[in-house]
Amino acid sequence: MLPLFKKPLLAYHAGLFILVVLTGLALSQLTSEYIILIAILVVEYVMMLVMMLHVYDKYMKPIKKTTQTVDELVKGNYRTRIHHSEQGSIGELNNKLNVLARNLSEFQIQEQVHEEQLSTVIDNTESGLVLIDEKGYIHLINRKFISMFGGKSHNYQGYLYYDVLAEETIHETVQQTFLYETNIKHTFTHTADVDPKYIEIVGAPIFNERGMLKGAVLLLYDITHLKKLELMRKDFVANVSHELKTPITSITGFAETLLSGAKDDKDSLDRFLTIIYDESTRLQGLIEDLLTLSKLEKDEFKITRTTVDINQLIDEILPVIEQQAKQKGITLTTDAKDNITLQADGEGIKQVIINLLTNAISYTSENGTVDLTAADEGESIHIHVSDNGIGIPRKAVPRIFERFYRVDKARSRNTGGTGLGLAIVKHIVEVHDGKILVESEPDQGSVFHVYLPKNEAASS
Ligand code: ADP
Repeated sequence: MLPLFKKPLLAYHAGLFILVVLTGLALSQLTSEYIILIAILVVEYVMMLVMMLHVYDKYMKPIKKTTQTVDELVKGNYRTRIHHSEQGSIGELNNKLNVLARNLSEFQIQEQVHEEQLSTVIDNTESGLVLIDEKGYIHLINRKFISMFGGKSHNYQGYLYYDVLAEETIHETVQQTFLYETNIKHTFTHTADVDPKYIEIVGAPIFNERGMLKGAVLLLYDITHLKKLELMRKDFVANVSHELKTPITSITGFAETLLSGAKDDKDSLDRFLTIIYDESTRLQGLIEDLLTLSKLEKDEFKITRTTVDINQLIDEILPVIEQQAKQKGITLTTDAKDNITLQADGEGIKQVIINLLTNAISYTSENGTVDLTAADEGESIHIHVSDNGIGIPRKAVPRIFERFYRVDKARSRNTGGTGLGLAIVKHIVEVHDGKILVESEPDQGSVFHVYLPKNEAASS
């Protein structure tokens, strides 16, 4: 386009000039009075100029303004508006354009709100999420996925899934989701850190409104916690079976021996019956401990707190424990000030003290010493059981509260231990919101500290 036509006013002006010149040439044929001719041309020029300016101002300028506004709308700037005072059809057009711009702007705001809501949900969901199109390109990846597999979203988005996701099971899930056009579920182990993570992946196909496959969404759940629970449960069942099998085998074996003739020999009868009795007692102890543990582990388990007098509790326990200590020649001392009370489950606290004292006696050689002290420390009651026995190796200390963990299996069995005593102690202390600490040195002895909140407010 000629540069002249880019400026309409200039172009009209040029046109007007040509028109005036042509009129002048035409009129010069009719008259030789140049003064009249020039006057006519000047009047014509001025009239045409006024008309032209009027047309420009009334029609061209508003159309130009409207065009600029439409251009802004096309660019996506929905906040643009036309400020005008025109009447008639141009004014009406401008009004309608303003309404359109307002509607588009509201629509855009709603879109943004929906988009933000969706991305908040996607980003804060507890499972990893990947959106793949039908060609295999990744369109979206959420925060959880990045926390599971590392990297940044730009390392994944826009790439083919098999180029950026190393895990073979993810590839299989995508391929099968595309192939069978149905939900596909798999599990795999992901080892990014030291601890492996167990992941469950679900691939779901996405269809368009005509039912054609448009891509797939992958959801990845971290099931490490569930897997660990399942392993623990399997271990526990295996341990319980093993623990039960030993005394039962022994009882059956000795009963069979007795039945097949040994009962006629007085010595054998006494010896075997004693073994059967001991093994039955062990079995009974194991079953009681298992029942106590399962009761404590129930979700709905709640302790019933009453006012517990520690001295009274110790008095009830001592006769049995003193008997055990005496049998091993162990000196047992107790030191508890009068009137140490707390709001707690009396039977539970009794069990804690019995288990700790029984262990202290079991794992202390003959002529050793075992001390029990209880003190009121203001907010909590501190129960302290110490011995100068075999102690616990440093690396075993964190494990002694695990079910069936024993530092020395044979020794624990010989002392009649079930391997559940400290697991029960820990549970009871925890349901009382207390804590238990251990200090131990091999061949020097062990000290168990139990801190129990007094919970006096609960009594008032
Ligand atoms: P157990 O029935 O075998 O005694 P516990 O759960 O009571 O089971 O204790 C777990 C393990 O902790 C024991 O097998 C023993 O090795 C160790 N243990 C507990 N108390 C003591 C202690 N006072 N001195 C030395 N070792 C101890």
